[in-house]
Amino acid sequence: MLGNRYEDQDCSIARALEVIGERWSLMIVRDALFGVRRFSDFEVHLDIPKAVLSQRLSGLIKAGVLERTPDPDHKGRFLYTLTDTGLALWPVVHSLARWGRQFCDPGTANRDYTHALCGTELDLHAGCPKCGVTPPPQDVIALRRAHAKQPRTDRVSEILRDDRRLLEPV
Ligand SMILES: [Zn+2]
Repeated sequence: MLGNRYEDQDCSIARALEVIGERWSLMIVRDALFGVRRFSDFEVHLDIPKAVLSQRLSGLIKAGVLERTPDPDHKGRFLYTLTDTGLALWPVVHSLARWGRQFCDPGTANRDYTHALCGTELDLHAGCPKCGVTPPPQDVIALRRAHAKQPRTDRVSEILRDDRRLLEPV
């Protein structure tokens, strides 16, 4: 198994990758930005083994990206939500999505992101060009693009299919 440490690299990118560079970690952050909060919802939407999901969630909690609180609707279960540290990854996730759309597979982009307060599409850096701010994720609307591909049919994918505000609980 590959390690996830870059101890010899004196670089803040290496430090960041130790937190979010493992397979699935950033996808979990992405799902959390879309309002996924329950273990079973991450599991069904990402289609990853329970043990891996459990490890990644623990790692993200330890790194201060996620926090775990009791689920008021399901005794003995938990909700996983982004901390301020985790929410600060929004522009990173957005930039990565834009980069992927431009350079990896232009056909895969399913969503556009707009500022909820004015309806303007965010720029490459997740900023609103009209208002001159970088809206926090709760002020961002993810709009489904016309002709978006949607191969997944699980419960969470069905919920996320519609236009929605980021962080709105699934
Ligand atoms: Zn705006």
